[in-house]
Amino acid sequence: MPDLDDRALGAYLGFAIGDALGATVEFMLPREIAYQYGVHRDIVGGGWLKLASGQVTDDTTMCLALGSALLAGGADAMARQAQGDEALVRLVGDAYIKWFKAKPVDCGNTCRRGIMRYMHEGTLQGPLNPGDGGNGALMRNLPAVLATLGDDAAFERVSIAQARLTHHHPMSDAATLGLGRLLGMLLAGATQSDCQKWVNQWVAQVPDFRFTPYRGYATAYVVDTVQTVLHYFTLHQDFEVALIATVNQGDDADTTGALVGMLAGARCGAAKLPERWLHRLQAATVQSITEQTRGLLALNGLN
Ligand code: MN
Ligand code: MN
Repeated sequence: MPDLDDRALGAYLGFAIGDALGATVEFMLPREIAYQYGVHRDIVGGGWLKLASGQVTDDTTMCLALGSALLAGGADAMARQAQGDEALVRLVGDAYIKWFKAKPVDCGNTCRRGIMRYMHEGTLQGPLNPGDGGNGALMRNLPAVLATLGDDAAFERVSIAQARLTHHHPMSDAATLGLGRLLGMLLAGATQSDCQKWVNQWVAQVPDFRFTPYRGYATAYVVDTVQTVLHYFTLHQDFEVALIATVNQGDDADTTGALVGMLAGARCGAAKLPERWLHRLQAATVQSITEQTRGLLALNGLN
């Protein structure tokens, strides 16, 4: 049984692996992928972003931005006092601005709009917006899970606050909380049958997320993203099999890949991640993720 450190590192590195693997086929149809690659199974870069091999995209770099803000907030932010929360959210917003100004390789429209609003108006969220149903807030929430492990109220506050900086939509909120709680369970060592039971309850509460029968939509709409992630994560036990199946579904493949990589990586632990993928990631990415994982877990005193 992997320990907490190994599962947490497995989640974060698994996320980056899924991002790097999926980015090659982002926005492609399954049949286009099949025509070009047969089965896409190697981290080779390219794709519409013309990535270097092993390069990650906004999914991973936004996680790192959130993680850096949570680490900067440190013990104060995690003191779980209401006034500490706003200061923390501003640190997160500032980290997103810094991330944006560094010219990331990609930035979703809703993320850009939200970061601009925070930059110009200083507001921590915009009004509820039917157009904010993309998966951009969901995709970057992993560090909030690590930083608040064992404290569900803090998890919910930090997650919703970081999400609303750019996305104010009920399905974005529900997805961010649900997948975050599933990750928290896996980090705590939940079995596959515990996870399956929890997922069944969750989709019973939020029927939009029901994924059986799987409709095969892997778009950046957060409902499609959650369905795809739950489908492939519950269908395949093996990290590699789950991830390959996910990214070959195409469309928002870097984000669905990252999220399946996160869950499946927490399930198997970092020590069991496929070497051939891990070694492809850029060394600086692996180092940042390793340092952040250790630091974020230390915030909640669980390791
Ligand atoms: Mn991306
Ligand atoms: Mn994407």
